Amino acid sequence: MKNKRFIILLLLISCGAVSSVTSASSLRVNRIRSWTAPDHTRVVLDMSGESVYRVRVLDNPHRIAIDIPGSRFASGVEPFTVGDGVIERIRINRLRSGGQVVFDLPRKTDYSDFALKPNRSHPYRIVFDLKRNLSDREVQVKRDRIEEIVSSGKKVVIIDPGHGGSDPGACSRFGLQEKDVVLDICFLLKRYIEKKPDYHAVMTREGDYYVGRYRRIQIAREHQGDCFVSVHANRFDNYNVRGSEVYFLSLTGASDENAQRVAERENVLHDLERESRTLNNDVQRILLDLTETDIMEKSSRLALYVNDEISGSRNIPPRGVKQANFVVLRSISMPSILVETAYLSNARDVRYLKKKDMRDWIARNIAEGIFRYFEAYPPSARDVAVSSYFSHTVCRGETLWSIAEKYGLDLSSLCRLNDFSRNTTIYPGQEIRVYREKN
Ligand SMILES: [Zn+2]
Repeated sequence: MKNKRFIILLLLISCGAVSSVTSASSLRVNRIRSWTAPDHTRVVLDMSGESVYRVRVLDNPHRIAIDIPGSRFASGVEPFTVGDGVIERIRINRLRSGGQVVFDLPRKTDYSDFALKPNRSHPYRIVFDLKRNLSDREVQVKRDRIEEIVSSGKKVVIIDPGHGGSDPGACSRFGLQEKDVVLDICFLLKRYIEKKPDYHAVMTREGDYYVGRYRRIQIAREHQGDCFVSVHANRFDNYNVRGSEVYFLSLTGASDENAQRVAERENVLHDLERESRTLNNDVQRILLDLTETDIMEKSSRLALYVNDEISGSRNIPPRGVKQANFVVLRSISMPSILVETAYLSNARDVRYLKKKDMRDWIARNIAEGIFRYFEAYPPSARDVAVSSYFSHTVCRGETLWSIAEKYGLDLSSLCRLNDFSRNTTIYPGQEIRVYREKN
């Protein structure tokens, strides 16, 4: 009898059943979190292992129910109120078949869901994005606001605080998260930019929520930005490494090994988005073509000016201007840089980053660099621009909404671009316009 049990155990180990697959009874929902963005609400279920789940949309009252067979809720997982107009409340039910999560909705809404495998900093996750339906009036107000900025004749600086929401970016051992530090620096930067009457600043996010890379690019394009400044904070396994770096895009490779590593880290974080798996080759090619203009030349100058200004700090030493292939910079047709303000893995850098006056100093000097760049190279006139379109080839299973989401458009903009109604049927292989770019 003893021998028999031993053989069964051996068999289980040799099949990998013990080590690699979470058995049904030990599958746990460890945490449920939500973030409210202006255009959607994201809910992430942190799972102890890979899971199969089923989603049902129910009416009367409106709700979305997620069944995860064989799972249970870890202690501490409780229902909670979201109350953001997209989700009223998130409830949990312990059913005989497993755990069930229910989103109570004030009204019916489109959603998308996907599962993610664990990476260096995150466990297995199931992610839900629920769309915020804007009223026609809200859409109009948004459009008018953009129109007002575009027609003001002011120089438009797009400020891009890295990460956000379910993606914290780099985390320090000293309790500081990249997404929070950079958001604060960006608010300060916006204030400095807008102190000048002929400048306007637009932020790609203004709170703790995740913004996909296409949405960031779309915001930059919608507002016809004159430059794009992405703000980050770095980390490295060697705790002694510290300082600030300014990057611009390279299509041929990184300027050194460290630059390559930074690009890999910032790019990997985009695995939170499905778009990386489904990006259409044609679109990618067109996006790459765009950057073959003089934009790279201008970006390198902008990087030099900003680096020059932030080099004056005796607190956070400058590490210079570098080149690397950053996804977020890759498809932007305006001078674009990425500033790694300091290292969150270094105790001294963290000490300075925690100080409000240091963040303020960084923001003021990034702004100075931008002002000096535009004094030397004023943006070219916009009124001679000609429009052209980029297209997307519809894949099986895609809907107008999922395509709009992928490219960071709202559904009505996508419909307008294509002269579609919301009920237009699309079919696999069809080419549809996804956005307009000024040449
Ligand atoms: Zn970052």
